[in-house]
Amino acid sequence: MNPRQKAELLQIAGGRVEFDSPMTRRTTFRVGGNADALCEMHDLEDLCRILPYLVRENIPYLVIGRGSNLLVRDGGIRGVVILLSGALSQIHSKSPDGSEILAGAGLSIVDLLTGCRKRGLSGLEFLAGIPGTVGGAVAMNAGAFGDEIGAWVRELRLVDPRGEVHVIHRSRLTFSYRTLDMEKGAVIAQVAFRMNLENEKSIVEKISGCLKRRKASQPLEYPSAGSVFRNPVNDYAGRLIEQAGLKGKCIGGAMISDRHANFIITQAGASAADILALIDEARNAVMKTAGITLKLEIRVVGDPADLDTAERWDDLSL
Ligand SMILES: Cc1cc2nc3c(=O)[nH]c(=O)nc-3n(C[C@H](O)[C@H](O)[C@H](O)COP(=O)(O)OP(=O)(O)OC[C@H]3O[C@@H](n4cnc5c(N)ncnc54)[C@H](O)[C@@H]3O)c2cc1C
Repeated sequence: MNPRQKAELLQIAGGRVEFDSPMTRRTTFRVGGNADALCEMHDLEDLCRILPYLVRENIPYLVIGRGSNLLVRDGGIRGVVILLSGALSQIHSKSPDGSEILAGAGLSIVDLLTGCRKRGLSGLEFLAGIPGTVGGAVAMNAGAFGDEIGAWVRELRLVDPRGEVHVIHRSRLTFSYRTLDMEKGAVIAQVAFRMNLENEKSIVEKISGCLKRRKASQPLEYPSAGSVFRNPVNDYAGRLIEQAGLKGKCIGGAMISDRHANFIITQAGASAADILALIDEARNAVMKTAGITLKLEIRVVGDPADLDTAERWDDLSL
């Protein structure tokens, strides 16, 4: 990014720009290099201004939530990382009977569930313990305990790369296992959910039940990005990795959890390269022992540490 672009970015983002921003602070794996710039967008107008600017200037961009499903390579991100906050992280009641809410994509899942509980709205409790945002959860069609967020979405407000806002009803959305079909470069700004009315006590019980089940099976005390691989049809990636004998396997500062083999956990000093090496090892071992190709659930973005600058602008690999 050249000095003119840096100055223009500061102006467009109202000063809320951090240059050379460490992605270790923005991802739950706590690894990865720096992004050229990280911009905080506070409202729809901000988004509608910045996206066409970045497209026009040929600057790659990536919107993130809490980075809880992201592995940023050690060379960092050439381009702009966009965070949503302010009006894009608030929650409002939408329908007269109160059963519909509108949530900003930057709202954390914790705050979404608190807002639902206070309004006596039930349905999304299965998300308890997922450390992401509404936008990240909808983009990933996050799910747990047999339910998925897509089933509760009534409509999305999206900003496309040209800066145009679209309201898309659920009948035109295609959710599938950990994905939502969306135009490349589009950003989810707000999400309307249709929920069930229920008393607060029963909602609290459901949330604590989900949290208890998570704590029993997941290594939540260590940095991770949750499940690394998608579950193959009729099987579990964790079971296959365990069967391949890789529970507890370490490379550098990363380890295949000995509690849940589909989690890779990290300690201080771990690199993205350590995690990628474990991913390769798990894939190869499962192919050898079960003949199954594991597919990634986490999204890998950014540059390897040793890529030369000319190639770097090519991809934000989403
Ligand atoms: C301990 C732990 C447990 C987890 N358990 C679960 C689980 O049970 N089920 C599950 O499904 N996941 C789970 N996850 C993974 C992760 O938390 C979810 O996928 C979460 O929904 C990602 O949200 P995020 O805001 O962190 O998204 P990020 O990781 O920041 O982004 C994920 C993807 O969404 C895109 N994205 C983010 N925001 C937007 C937006 N506004 N518009 C368009 N695209 C956007 C990003 O570009 C990226 O491609 C777990 C993770 C951890 C660390």
